[in-house]
Amino acid sequence: MVRRNRSTRCILVLLLTLSLLLTSGCSTSPPANMDWATPTVSATTGIEAEIQDTFDAYAAALVAKDEAGFLATINQENTRFYASQQELFRRLEDVPFDQYRIALESVSESAEGAAVAKVLTTSTLSGSFPGLPQPTRSAYALVRREDGWKLSGDASEQALGRKRDARLEDFGKVLVHESGHAIVLYLAPDAATAARVGGQIDDAYPQLVTALPGVELPRVPVLVFSNQEQLDQAYPGQWQEWVGGASRQLGNSEREGGEIIVQAQVYRETGSYDPDFQSQTIAHELTHIALFPRSGVSTPPLLVEGLADYVAGVEPSPLLAEKLHSGAALSPSLSDLYQPSGFDVLLSNEAAQLAYDEAGTAVAYIERDFGGGKVLALLEEFKRREDDGTDQDQLVDEVFRQVLGTGWADFENGWRQYVLGL
Ligand SMILES: [Zn+2]
Repeated sequence: MVRRNRSTRCILVLLLTLSLLLTSGCSTSPPANMDWATPTVSATTGIEAEIQDTFDAYAAALVAKDEAGFLATINQENTRFYASQQELFRRLEDVPFDQYRIALESVSESAEGAAVAKVLTTSTLSGSFPGLPQPTRSAYALVRREDGWKLSGDASEQALGRKRDARLEDFGKVLVHESGHAIVLYLAPDAATAARVGGQIDDAYPQLVTALPGVELPRVPVLVFSNQEQLDQAYPGQWQEWVGGASRQLGNSEREGGEIIVQAQVYRETGSYDPDFQSQTIAHELTHIALFPRSGVSTPPLLVEGLADYVAGVEPSPLLAEKLHSGAALSPSLSDLYQPSGFDVLLSNEAAQLAYDEAGTAVAYIERDFGGGKVLALLEEFKRREDDGTDQDQLVDEVFRQVLGTGWADFENGWRQYVLGL
């Protein structure tokens, strides 16, 4: 079996970028869901307020685990839809929702007493990030009954021109494993995987907060999908087959945080021949979640990817030291990796391996020779200056000089000596 190259860990983040994710350490991607753009909400009418009441009751019942209240919002006469919603309620019954919001985007009345509503859905988990993440879009058919509007069918395909993206609960009952630092949502066949991922997050957490003094994360949400087919439906076109885990930013601030997504089948395969790579992947992704709100458009990706590998305890391959000993030019060079696109243009496995080795050793060098907390101080300064328009070469030199007391050229020389001395 082919050993996964470490570049996979970056690419997977790149593949899962949302439109809001312009500042991730791994990429700056165009919005993934641009084809979903639609007009803004129309003026509130009586019908819209009534229909919003129905969605509020539906969402509140999901949080309160109130099955009767939930089913009271569904049209009983559509027996098939009613049964599917009853099943949905049971599949979500264990999920510790803190908030569940369904916001009406627009309503069109298809006939007297019948309507189609486009909605934006989002939720948070108790004990996890408190901010509501970017919502996902779907649509419902509704009918008016004596006691209010009732949901009467999924109208996503009809109203939005495509099926809505699948969610974990579409594949079975969602089970929950809470560890010290994670809330892992999974399906019955993946119980052992869920427990293992939770344990790996707990194991990585102390190293993360040591590297980022003062930073804390609430329990990190983890979604374990069983296989590739499920992921292709949940994140169409955004997941590559050979990726076992990924992180996804859920909003711009620390309040929304991020989530880790695991492809259980690949995760288990990887673990069977390289358990270290598996736990390092999870630690690497956990680090990305801490760094999402701390990265800006001018943040050198070498700091982000380097810290993620440093926290994960990834040892550099012999390749980097060999190159340095032989005096060969590095491609990419360390300077290439402070450019915002530095990790997006790695065209070969060797380039990817070198890039991660360079980044990881650069962060290890900062940690050893400049003291703990300096990587965080660098990130904060780059974030603070992300809009000041300084040329990237000059910005990096200035920020390194200010935070570490050494300009870029001296830093790069010191790093080369550090690697040669390993
Ligand atoms: Zn990465």
